[in-house]
Amino acid sequence: MKTYKFKLYEADRNRHLKRMINTCGFIWNHCIALHRRFYRIFKKHINKYALTKHLAKLRNRNPRWKLVGSQSVQDIVLRIDRAYQAFFKRHSKGVRPPRFQKCRQYKSFTMTQAGYKFLGGNRIKIGSRVFQYWNSREIEGVIKTVTVKRSPLGELFLNVVATGPDQEIVKIETGKSAGFDFGLKMFLTTSDGEEIESPQFLKMGLDKLAKANRDLSRKKKGSANRERARLHLNRVYESISNQRKDWFWKLAHKLTDKYDELYFETLNLDGMKRLWGRKVSDLAFAEFLQILEWVASKKGKSVGFVGRWFPSSKTCSSCGHTHKNLELKDRVWRCGNCLTVNDRDKNAAINILKEGQRIAA
Ligand SMILES: [Zn+2]
Repeated sequence: MKTYKFKLYEADRNRHLKRMINTCGFIWNHCIALHRRFYRIFKKHINKYALTKHLAKLRNRNPRWKLVGSQSVQDIVLRIDRAYQAFFKRHSKGVRPPRFQKCRQYKSFTMTQAGYKFLGGNRIKIGSRVFQYWNSREIEGVIKTVTVKRSPLGELFLNVVATGPDQEIVKIETGKSAGFDFGLKMFLTTSDGEEIESPQFLKMGLDKLAKANRDLSRKKKGSANRERARLHLNRVYESISNQRKDWFWKLAHKLTDKYDELYFETLNLDGMKRLWGRKVSDLAFAEFLQILEWVASKKGKSVGFVGRWFPSSKTCSSCGHTHKNLELKDRVWRCGNCLTVNDRDKNAAINILKEGQRIAA
């Protein structure tokens, strides 16, 4: 299962969704009252099937309840049932039974198969109305539930749960190992010489991010315009970081399918920032490594690191000679000892592989 979170566009019509959430709050409270009354009289907990049946009858008689679909009502019954089950099991540990809630502070409602339809692009139909959302990533797999959620600030989000394709993890042994060098131009260079570039949409996203940042800094402090610019920046940031994460997952799967042992240099983020500036944190090597290590552990692949002080760039991978005055701008260099012409990044990746295997052995 995979959860996708999308923010809905701010729009007047969102009040309809908020009204639906409020109605669910009202139904929740009605259920809690029923539970309590039932317990007072019969000293028993209402069975969730009986309650669902009873609510379906009520919903038919009460036009206001029809604002929300029957599945959403069922979901409220399930939520309350779960809360009571947790209470029965763990009340000695301080878990409280579910309580009445203020309708306006009630948070969400959930739809399973009916009541919504994705119309393609960034549009979703809920009930009879079409809403737009910030479509930060494609939904993969089969949609199980869609939850409309209200944040404390009154913003609305869609939480979509789908059975993701990366649920089934295939273990393939290839007997291959590789070293990897992170870079600015190329995201990764492998010891096989493959260059993995940051995707174009991420580069464009970074431009958008920089622009949103500039816009914000131009607005007057405390103004409504500044608040709007701040929200816009947040949205851009969120959408980029989702896209990036998506790409990281795919890349992690691709590399762990191809290699059994993967070696990297230990990151020195502070040092890199000083050397290259802010951009490095945008590339988020550390985030990628975290994802990669997780995926590798699931597939039984190993990820190793060589020390931060290992001179991976300055060492000739053919003869081991150290080229002392190599500068950051030198992309290609000729070894003074064996005359091999070394591509800077590939050479570093090969050295990382060799050193990694040496340490592992
Ligand atoms: Zn050499």
